[in-house]
Amino acid sequence: MTKLLIVSLFIGSFIFGWQTNVTDHSNEGMTIATVMVPAEPDAKMMSWYSGYNATYFNDALPHDTFVFITDLPTRYIGLTFECGQARYCIAIDRKLNPTIQDRQFTLLHEMVHVQFYGNLDYTLHREPFKRRMRELCAEGAFDDIF
Ligand SMILES: [Zn+2]
Repeated sequence: MTKLLIVSLFIGSFIFGWQTNVTDHSNEGMTIATVMVPAEPDAKMMSWYSGYNATYFNDALPHDTFVFITDLPTRYIGLTFECGQARYCIAIDRKLNPTIQDRQFTLLHEMVHVQFYGNLDYTLHREPFKRRMRELCAEGAFDDIF
């Protein structure tokens, strides 16, 4: 019985995804959210990620980033975190990003978090982050979004 349960949980993680705790490294590893990661990424978001990566990030962001749409805990529009077999996960909240344009904007925002990941203040939106967002705007990244 126990064996059966373990096997079904294992298969379940492939079909339904898995739950993960997202921690804030800049705040003593405090858990900030529990996120349901689906088994498969969102195909459209993945294709935007790789297009934006090539056009605006010199293709320098990791190619295995796992981008998906989910129901995040209240107040999170998007989240970037280290996860499982992919180096990074980008979660986009379904309710707070109802349109394609919202999702594209949030994706670009989260991609800047990927770019700064590992820096001391990567979770914050300090001046280097804002500067990078302004550069993206100047480069036309938001032309089809706003
Ligand atoms: Zn942010």
